[in-house]
Amino acid sequence: MPEENLDALLDEPLLEEYSPDPHPFQRGSIACTGTEFCSLSIVETKNRQVRFSRWLKANVDLPDDVEDFHIHLSGCTASCAQPQIADVSLRGMKTRKNGEPVEALDIGLGGGLGENPNFADWVTERVPADEVPGAIRNLVQHYDELREERVVPEEQREGDGEAVERETFREFVVDRDEEELAELVEPEETDYEDPYMHNTKKTWYPYAEDDDMDASPAPNSADEGPAPADD
Ligand code: SF4
Repeated sequence: MPEENLDALLDEPLLEEYSPDPHPFQRGSIACTGTEFCSLSIVETKNRQVRFSRWLKANVDLPDDVEDFHIHLSGCTASCAQPQIADVSLRGMKTRKNGEPVEALDIGLGGGLGENPNFADWVTERVPADEVPGAIRNLVQHYDELREERVVPEEQREGDGEAVERETFREFVVDRDEEELAELVEPEETDYEDPYMHNTKKTWYPYAEDDDMDASPAPNSADEGPAPADD
């Protein structure tokens, strides 16, 4: 692309929707294949992760100095989305909510690569999927309110470097035990809506408008009951 055409390209309306500079919640989101194509998956992943990232972008203020925030979602313990090295690690599970089986996620914290690489610890388990965005919002808000600042010694400042350094998310997590972290990532229902809550492996097709089994196009058995799950 010749440089003189760059501004015209960046003005294209399509790039308002598909930004070359996406929000950290969107560029930091990774999901594995999930229920759509993986018979091992316990939960819907890719479509859910897109909905998570859009909701988080609209409803959660990341502190200004946080440029990257990684959220990885795997549909099962095989961990193809590498959740253990994300800021927020998500892993497919099932649970019951209001007496109904629903899709759920374990939430892990403390993972990351680079300096002091570490695998996440799973701090809270079987969170109903529709309460996970609220849990991440609570976590980020607590991080913003509770993170510490330190004065950088003069000899450690680079160039015009800041005199005050704020705790990174990883430092914030490493400084706390699992019990405290579980309280900071408290699940909460919000206006986030999750249309895949009741798939729970009863259907291989996650796009039906109705998430009830009756909406599945999967083949039925001779007595017209649902075919057994392929797991
Ligand atoms: S993590 Fe599990 S569900 Fe996801 S693609 Fe790998 S095997 Fe399938």
